Amino acid sequence: MAHWLVNQSTIADRGVLRPTHIEVDLARLTANYRAIQVHVAPAAVMPILKANAYGHGLVEVARHMQALGAPYLGVAFLEEGILLREAGVTTPILVLGGIIGNQIPLFLEYDLTLTASSVDKLGQIEAAARAMGVRAKVHLKIDTGMERIGVHYYSAAALLEASLACTHFEVEGIFSHFANADMPDPAYSHLQLARFEGVLDFYARRGLPPPPLRHMANSAALARFPQAHFDMVRAGLLLYGVYPSADVPRTVAVRPTLSWKSRVVYFKVVRPGHPVSYGSTWQSDHAVRLVTVPVGYGDGYFRALSNRAEVIIRGRRYPVVGRVCMDQLMVNIEWDSAYNGDEVILLGEDAGGAAVRVEELAEWAGTVPWEILTNVNTRVPRVYRNAGANGRGLTADRRPPTADG
Ligand SMILES: *Cc1c(COP(=O)(O)O)cnc(C)c1O
Repeated sequence: MAHWLVNQSTIADRGVLRPTHIEVDLARLTANYRAIQVHVAPAAVMPILKANAYGHGLVEVARHMQALGAPYLGVAFLEEGILLREAGVTTPILVLGGIIGNQIPLFLEYDLTLTASSVDKLGQIEAAARAMGVRAKVHLKIDTGMERIGVHYYSAAALLEASLACTHFEVEGIFSHFANADMPDPAYSHLQLARFEGVLDFYARRGLPPPPLRHMANSAALARFPQAHFDMVRAGLLLYGVYPSADVPRTVAVRPTLSWKSRVVYFKVVRPGHPVSYGSTWQSDHAVRLVTVPVGYGDGYFRALSNRAEVIIRGRRYPVVGRVCMDQLMVNIEWDSAYNGDEVILLGEDAGGAAVRVEELAEWAGTVPWEILTNVNTRVPRVYRNAGANGRGLTADRRPPTADG
């Protein structure tokens, strides 16, 4: 019997959920986390929760991961870290993104771990921590071939050297990031790995222990390159049950944690030659039954899915026809039956095993699975299923929506 947690306030209080909603299966999230843990042991797993936990709900997923005993959480931005602290999350949190000088006091106030990638930033962290009389926690970021943030591997020695002289921060970690771990040819990943190991040699050469948390692997790399596990892996997409690409071997058994559902809100018969939706991009040469579904690109269902995507109604897949509107879309059920209130699965599985997968939506929309998940925005209420799966109580969450995904 499923237990439910709902995060939309007023109408949910009356038992009326928006027909369009997301269901997050917390039991699957637990199972995925455990499967990754087993795969990478003895390395630890840092769940990555940026962008509203890949659309799953930042605070709920963080609380769940904390209850599971995750040793560290990863977010992209300071603001995400603060939201978690204000929600009472006490697990260590690494902010993976770059820092701007005047943000440093907030990191320290909220006990968030900083990513430092230059001698200059280290100096700013040291000064702010000294002024506040606290000890900052820092992970050094090494760029081994992404050209995003991080000190280049070939000039990292100066940063590591400077970090040894600190008095008001602790270098708890050092990390890098793969650019191509989900692509067929592993050569560039191997090159990046060798560069990172070359940087770590700095410590061995001086007879010093490396920082306790060395980490490099994202989902693709943790599945594929055991030598990239180091002390911890950063699991994003895979934690949510989705593989980065068809080229990543299925070494960890995970299942998708998010479903996106709606209901039929209107039914009509459309005559041949009568085009459907904006731009009149689709029409039939015979009479068909169409149903209208109250979801659109204003919820994050890409307009690029127009005339491409399929949905599941009553166990069968049917095409989305005509342009996806901001708040509605139309589905051609040909001459089958569907009724107002029938469930429409936009993403996920039904009881009989019919499914629309994240990877399919990504392909239809011409994008990657990450963007499908993070694009579902906060107009769509999240419902949490199997909340009791790890022994947590069943409390309705009455927060207003937070960050957009
Ligand atoms: C987003 C991100 C991850 C997680 O990537 P996935 O491919 O979703 O596992 C890991 N590390 C960094 C630095 C990231 O920005």
